[in-house]
This record gives sequence, C-alpha cells and structure tokens, in this order.
Amino acid sequence: MHCHVNGYPAINFCSNNYLGLAHDIRLKQAAIQAIETYGTGAGASPLVGGTQSLTAVLQEAVADFKGTEASLVFPSGYQANVAAVSAIAQPGDFIFADKLNHASLLDGCILSGAQVHRYRHLQYGDLKRMLEKTPKDAVKWIVTDTVFSMDGDITDLKILTELAATYNAGILVDEAHATGLYGDQRSSGQVEQSGLSREITLQVGTFSKALGGLGAYVAGPRILIDWMINRSRGFIYSTAPSPGMLGSALEAVRIVQTDTTLKQKLWQNVFYLQPRLNTLLARFDLPGVQARSPIFPIILGDNETTMRVSERLLSEYGIFLQGIRPPSVPRNTARLRFTVSAPHETTQLNHFLDALESTLAQTNMVH
Ligand SMILES: *Cc1c(COP(=O)(O)O)cnc(C)c1O
Repeated sequence: MHCHVNGYPAINFCSNNYLGLAHDIRLKQAAIQAIETYGTGAGASPLVGGTQSLTAVLQEAVADFKGTEASLVFPSGYQANVAAVSAIAQPGDFIFADKLNHASLLDGCILSGAQVHRYRHLQYGDLKRMLEKTPKDAVKWIVTDTVFSMDGDITDLKILTELAATYNAGILVDEAHATGLYGDQRSSGQVEQSGLSREITLQVGTFSKALGGLGAYVAGPRILIDWMINRSRGFIYSTAPSPGMLGSALEAVRIVQTDTTLKQKLWQNVFYLQPRLNTLLARFDLPGVQARSPIFPIILGDNETTMRVSERLLSEYGIFLQGIRPPSVPRNTARLRFTVSAPHETTQLNHFLDALESTLAQTNMVH
C-alpha cells in the first residue's frame, strides 16, 4: 500500500481499496482486454446505444452475486444512489433515512421530492416513532448505508426488516463499504451476511472500493430495475459505463466470489490491529474502536489537533491518512479516519502503531 503524497513516499492508510484489487494484475488485464475489444468509451447513454454486450454480462453477474433478479450498472456510486432513490420515491411519499447516510443518498432523497425524515444514527426507536406517525397507506422507504463510511459501524438489518414489514415500507441499502468484505458464500456484503436478501428491496453497491475499480450497481427485483431503466433520469441522461470499467468490475466480482485469500488477509489485519490500537488509545483516554469493518475512526474531537496529527504522521513517519472535519462528520467529532487493507504487512501496521503513539504523545494528548 505504497503511495506518493506531494512527491514523498508514504504508506497509504486511507484507501478504500480494501482488498488491494486496484493493483491486481487480473483486473488490469481484464480492463485492457475490454478496452482492446470495445474501445475506451461507451459512446452514448444506455438507452441510445451505450449499452454493450459487456454491460449485460456484468448486470447478470451482479444479480447472481447479490442474489437478486436483476441489476443495473452506473458510472459511479454517487450517481447510482441519486438515480435510484429519486426514481423510487416521489412527492407524497415518505423516506426515512439514517442521519449519517452517505451524501449521495441524501441528495437522492431531496431530489425525489418525497417527505424526508432523518432518524438518529442507528436509533431504531427513533425510526419506529417516525413510521408510526406516517399515514398507513403512504408509500414508505427506509434508506441506509450498511457499513457507515466515517465510523465503520453497521446497520442492524434484522431490526430494519422487521420494522419495514410491520409498517409496510421498502428498504434500499447502500453496500459501498460492504461489497466484497462480508458473506460466507459470495462475499457480496452485509445483506448476504444477514441472510435477509429477500426482505431488502434494493441493494446499491460500488465497484470503486473493495472491488478496486469504478462504477456501481443497483440490484433488486426485475420490475423495479425496469422501472428505473424507463424512469430514472440519473440512468437515462448520462453516458453508459466505459468498457474498461466494466471489464475490471466483472473480473472483481468473479474474484471475490471464488478467491477468499485477500479477504482473509484483510480480516487478519483488522483483528491484528484492533486490540493493539485500543491499548494505545486507552493510554491517551481516547475512545476505543471495534473490529467490525476495515474502517477505524480515531476521534480526537478538535479540528486543529486532528489536522496537526495527520500532518505529522505524514511528514515525520510517511503515514498517509486523512483528518476528517465537519461537515463531513458531526461537530466536535473531528477524527483520523484510517483504513486497513489486505496488502498491509505486519511491519507496516506496527510502524503505524508506533508512529501514532509518538505523534499523540508529541501533540500533548496526554491528560
Ligand atoms: C463512496 C460511497 C458512495 C459513492 O460511490 P462512488 O463510486 O465513489 O461515487 C456512495 N455511498 C457510500 C456509502 C460511499 O461510501
């Protein structure tokens, strides 16, 4: 996980390339092959000639992967979320959204014109109260990330599907940080892991994180996918994904289902780091982290301290991670958001721990 930041070599601790697939020779070759066969661009939007045979192959592969009837692919996750949410809900409908959902989900909610209610992060009692107050016959959607990108915490899909059944709501989940990382059979995400794929109406996910490429999918029942093909402006009015993207995505979907070595390596790294990190954080009176995902937030609270620590980690120790400040995260929760990935070596994880300890000590974090 080496990179260069402003010309200096560093170890990358903030990439979402969790499995290292972005540098995998198999993906590179699949992308090159697709480009050589189909060219570099789709040349048009999906309904006027941009849909290629490779698109159809990938859409079928994704539907198999996610255990759904059909899927639709998009050039980016941002676009897939905006396109999907704005197509399934309209004025007069109700959307219930986790307060910490990704911005693209929120933008889709706003664009739909539906009444949007944001429940407190993972607070299902709050959601239940909102659902109770909603007219029985109204169209209702619950919209949420499955793995939250800034905290690495996880939606309880069991509670969510129970609530949805009680109040007759559809569910759309965003598996951007889950695709490729969870699930014993196919590694397709939290929905597979929870065994609730039939209860979840629509699953969005990206090829841009663990799958090492670019683009996204929406997977679900044929009828909703057909609806989106005909109604979703974010799908209709944008050039179709390029052959290179499609080629690497298809190969990544194949790899994560058949080869679990990278996933095992990733989780080994997560479980190696988490207890050691907690010992360290406790020494500085900082909140601990859990091993639920490869995303670890070290919440320092103060914006300036956060940026100082991240700058020092880079300039003195060659460790690249991002300080994240409001409005990307709630106020007073500025943090170092760092991620581990499969290619990290134990020596690099140890170097990270040592560097973090020295930097926090230098930054007068001891109370
Ligand atoms: C990254 C991300 C997206 C956007 O995906 P892109 O492919 O980068 O456009 C959407 N949702 C979540 C939860 C994400 O983390």
